Amino acid sequence: MKQKKTSHLREVWLDEAVTYWLDYMEEKGFLKKGLRRPEVRVSPGLPYGGKKAYLTVAGECYSSAVSDDHKCQIFINPRLSDSYDVLGTLLHELLHSVLGSQIDHGPTFAKAANHLGLIGPAAYHGSVTGELQEKMQNFIATMGPYPHAALRIE
Ligand SMILES: [Zn+2]
Repeated sequence: MKQKKTSHLREVWLDEAVTYWLDYMEEKGFLKKGLRRPEVRVSPGLPYGGKKAYLTVAGECYSSAVSDDHKCQIFINPRLSDSYDVLGTLLHELLHSVLGSQIDHGPTFAKAANHLGLIGPAAYHGSVTGELQEKMQNFIATMGPYPHAALRIE
């Protein structure tokens, strides 16, 4: 990955990460089995569901079916500020956008997540393989850390 101009805009950083992860999914042979590369909008955003969701949901992916321009919309909980947590959460949400909203966190999702290097039962819990950790390091070395400060709501 070439050195890019860093930005203070979170959306720029996240948008670059979307491209980076979709390229990674292609590298892993992931988008070749009839799974098309999704068009995605991404930004920080409070999860739907109030305080409980704020405290427990890292990110959300809304399918193209509920968006006026038919692009998936992903929101990263603004309480997350660690670059690795954000990248892991984004990869998890992108997997939802690729697999479609009919696939929940069952075996299909878990198998795909594990193939990409996300370790855990299904949802992202912060554990990743060494290969994926290296991919994250490379992205952060190029783009700098996530330009965000955690939002703390009591
Ligand atoms: Zn999920």
